Amino acid sequence: MKNFFRKVGRFFKRNAYALAVCGCVVLVLTMVSITAASLINSSNQQSENPPVNSDQNIPSVPSDSSEVIVFGLPIADANVSKSYAEDHLLEDLTIGGWQTHQGIDFKASAGTSVVAVYDGVVESVENSMMDGLVVTIRHANNLKSVYRCLDTDAMVQANDKVTKGQEIGKVSTNLTEKGDGAHLHFELLENDKLIDPTPYFDENGK
Ligand SMILES: [Zn+2]
Repeated sequence: MKNFFRKVGRFFKRNAYALAVCGCVVLVLTMVSITAASLINSSNQQSENPPVNSDQNIPSVPSDSSEVIVFGLPIADANVSKSYAEDHLLEDLTIGGWQTHQGIDFKASAGTSVVAVYDGVVESVENSMMDGLVVTIRHANNLKSVYRCLDTDAMVQANDKVTKGQEIGKVSTNLTEKGDGAHLHFELLENDKLIDPTPYFDENGK
């Protein structure tokens, strides 16, 4: 047994230098891995913080998807002359025959005020040969309301902040729905896809 301990002792004496180097290497590796782990941790924490919008000049709409949105009517006391019809056909008085209708038509005489259905920011104002003046407003919850068949006298411009009930244009006629006479063709987009706007109007809406 003594012999064994002597052998071990001799081993350590002979290899003291190599053992010391090994010990140092293990120590350095441990420290490097601890530092790396804490760096990864801190960068994770940083990415959890949302980026701060430093540009205050461009109006933005709240991105809170939990906002409860109830539209006001785009035209006061207007009647719906054609409802939303994505999966069934309605008679098309302009080109004849039967077509889907991915919007709501509000019948009103030419020159009647059209108002924003909800708070938002004007995304675009376009003059289209077929659709007349087209105003698109961006709202919270990734919604956009589109007002077609407006008079060409624009009352708002892109990046204007608008509030629910604010006048944005006047009813006119257009070529796309010429057969329907003067009216507003109202559309709603969610994530840039047309959807049925009907559920967004309150019980008093039509
Ligand atoms: Zn229409």
